[in-house]
Amino acid sequence: MTHKNDFSRRKFLSAVAATSFAAAVSQSFPTYGKLGNTSGKLAALGGSPIRTNKAIGPKWPYVNEKMVENIVSTTKSGIWSRIQKKGGNVDTFETEFAALIGANHSVGTGSGTQALSTCVEALGIGPGDEVITSPYTDMGTISSILTSRALPVMVDLDPDSYQLDPDEIEKRINKNTKAIMPVHIMGMPANMERIKAIAKKHNLRVIEDSCQAPFSRYQGKAIGTIGDLGCFSFQASKAIACGEGGAVVGNDTALMDQCFTVQNRGASKEGRNETIGPKYRMNEFEAAILLGQLPSAKERFEIRNKNADYINAQLKGFPGLVPQKRYEGTESASYYHYALTYHKEHFDGADRSKFLKAVNAEGIGFGSYIRKGLHREPWIQHILGLDGFKTMYSEARLKEYQEGMNLPNCDRICDETLVSIWGSGTLLGSKNDMDDIVNAIMKVYDNRAQLKSL
Ligand SMILES: *Cc1c(COP(=O)(O)O)cnc(C)c1O
Repeated sequence: MTHKNDFSRRKFLSAVAATSFAAAVSQSFPTYGKLGNTSGKLAALGGSPIRTNKAIGPKWPYVNEKMVENIVSTTKSGIWSRIQKKGGNVDTFETEFAALIGANHSVGTGSGTQALSTCVEALGIGPGDEVITSPYTDMGTISSILTSRALPVMVDLDPDSYQLDPDEIEKRINKNTKAIMPVHIMGMPANMERIKAIAKKHNLRVIEDSCQAPFSRYQGKAIGTIGDLGCFSFQASKAIACGEGGAVVGNDTALMDQCFTVQNRGASKEGRNETIGPKYRMNEFEAAILLGQLPSAKERFEIRNKNADYINAQLKGFPGLVPQKRYEGTESASYYHYALTYHKEHFDGADRSKFLKAVNAEGIGFGSYIRKGLHREPWIQHILGLDGFKTMYSEARLKEYQEGMNLPNCDRICDETLVSIWGSGTLLGSKNDMDDIVNAIMKVYDNRAQLKSL
């Protein structure tokens, strides 16, 4: 039961063309509201919704018969831990995943957080050291640094890409800085060209938090293979999922051997007990689920890209919602979320919350994703009060650390501007589903005068 398309795309596009000159001159878009048939009542105010069947895309997480077979055969085999057999599921997964991503090596772990933590520890980063990263991420990013008792230094974002702003990174580098941990947020590549150049200049390591970005490509390379090490998550909501799981990828054999040793509670592949390390091993069941879905994972990635490109094309020139900025050389993205910047001045000044309420009532599940940057969460007070941190870091340094948490662009993204729709499943929908997304946006836009009544 689809609501007929009231909002002629052709009309919209020609309106864009006709008004763009005047708009550029007047710096406002008053004519956008006059797109012909804009009659209609927002569903939030009792009108009929664009879509009544809210879920878009197939059931998630992705399941196929091969995954089920793998679980059954693994269960029956009694080989449940990777140390029971050479060439078992985890070993095979590591070989296949490295090949799929285009890295020389891969090490499986029990989560993305564990993968990141493995990298921090393997690079010898610890008390007294600083790692520069984003405040706009999963807590696992920050946690991986804190677990080694180093300081996660969060810097402000590019307001249009929601990624680390390279200029802000440079400002915060000091003699304690050991690494940069860029987060490819939403699966969109961060500005790796600048980040790599900064790392080279200051002799820093780069750990890519690619947890949301399997298969994303940038300047001819796969995300996760551009820095020293890259990390992936296979948590249930991610594009490749096994419940909880993760992997490190890298090209440097010695460093990747060190990653293996760290995640194997300090024991090397040869069985020598060499270093400090937690036990972060992926188990054979996790790898069984992953092996069943890897052969078709890239197909799903391509569909998400096709669908995102389609929505982008439909919204081209629309000033009210602008898709996440792509840095030069971005070839594709994993779209963990499909995100846009909301410009309320083009919605009669209605706050984002009203737009979200309206578009959700139309049957499209946009949200605001991360509600608060991690610089505004209570863990900071917690670590500043810990005896261990007070022993490792001087009072002056902890004070300075706390004072560096002024990140206005991140705050604005969280509080006012970012809207997104979860991509892993949603962007696997049909073209009609994508049209519903665009039509719901445009219905709210055309009827924006009603937003003040919400
Ligand atoms: C999911 C995620 C993590 C953590 O991965 P887990 O597997 O949940 O531990 C880290 N960083 C980012 C950007 C993520 O999206």
